[in-house]
Amino acid sequence: MSSSTDTRPARIMLLPGDGVGPEVINEAHKVLRAAAERFGHRFELCQGLIGGCAIDRTADPLPANTLSLCRQCDAVLLGAVGGPQWDDPLAAVRPEQGLLRIRSELGLFANLRPVRVYPALANNVPLKPEIVANVDLVVVRELTGGLYFGKRGREPVEGGEHAYDTMSYTTPEIERIARMAAMLARSRGGKLTSVDKANVLESSRLWRATVTRVIADEFPDVELEHVLVDSAAMHLIQRPRRFDVIVTENMFGDILTDEASVLAGSMGLLPSASLGDGGPGLYEPIHGSAPDIAGRNIANPIGMILSAAMMCRMSLGWIDAADCITAAVEHVLRTGRRTADIVSAGQTPIGTAEMGTRIADFVAIMDVAAKRSRETECVRT
Ligand code: NAD
Repeated sequence: MSSSTDTRPARIMLLPGDGVGPEVINEAHKVLRAAAERFGHRFELCQGLIGGCAIDRTADPLPANTLSLCRQCDAVLLGAVGGPQWDDPLAAVRPEQGLLRIRSELGLFANLRPVRVYPALANNVPLKPEIVANVDLVVVRELTGGLYFGKRGREPVEGGEHAYDTMSYTTPEIERIARMAAMLARSRGGKLTSVDKANVLESSRLWRATVTRVIADEFPDVELEHVLVDSAAMHLIQRPRRFDVIVTENMFGDILTDEASVLAGSMGLLPSASLGDGGPGLYEPIHGSAPDIAGRNIANPIGMILSAAMMCRMSLGWIDAADCITAAVEHVLRTGRRTADIVSAGQTPIGTAEMGTRIADFVAIMDVAAKRSRETECVRT
């Protein structure tokens, strides 16, 4: 971890990627510059190709040069990858391969996805305000195992083809994600929900037994419950406040976090952090490349900006900058500024760049301590 006491500047790798990726990463950079200037932190940037743009230029969705630069940095900020021009299912290389490979090459086995409902947006959410009010949960998704990395194949059989993917986990893979989730739960409300499908899947039975043992042996102060994934999907929209930290396998986490994004009001609002056992963390919004709105200056940059705030907190040790960026986002939303995805009837949306500029402006001037106490009052009432 780099920090303000280090003599060298923090090294940050930018991977803008495809679609809206470059647009939202520009705004994160703008806000990061404002925060670094305000708190006296120094950073230098590297930039690389990943995804579809990397395929076009190098025929490889994760060029060796990109990976090598990432390894030399303290943290990686990623926009998004993919788009219809690279969607041919028969293509030998696809943008998503770059994403899966960078996670696996950097050993990023845990993906943390916080979901908060901002009081200012509670009325923009398709669910009733009393259901979503005060939701504040984190999904810890296992990222380098399970169905997305298991043995797969296709073979001809009589009458057509046989295609298969396998969900597999080992004890150490489950232990390390359980420990990370438990440490997070300990630093928050102390409650951990492990989500699996242990009534059907063998890999889930190992998951459940391992999580139970790790928590009992190493985290007796953490309250653990097990919930089946189908039931968890229902509870997430019926009683989301019952959750504090959720830990689950790769594909279940992928699906549940997209569902959870509805609680916040838009895919464009949610950040994520992918962490491993050392080496750089990777920070990206949970949304994809949104080709339907790319290049039009209408994407919401907040998920990307909050991902940069997570990077400041978790990889760079810039807690002051992280707090300030988070507070500035809340403040801008409270003042009624909205991008098109979160605008209410009668409001005029602002563009991607203007949203980034407004957040950066607040980062430069706002009194974080005063802002936080007011926000607490606002949440309490
Ligand atoms: P998506 O997240 O790109 O878009 C889903 C919907 O949310 C779209 O209507 C889009 O306009 C909207 N949206 C997404 N981000 C937004 C933002 N910042 N502001 C406002 N609205 C936003 O998912 P998709 O359409 O299923 O996938 C599009 C492409 O992205 C595909 O090629 C897919 O493979 C790829 N993808 C990449 C990642 C990643 O890079 N991590 C994740 C998911 C999907």
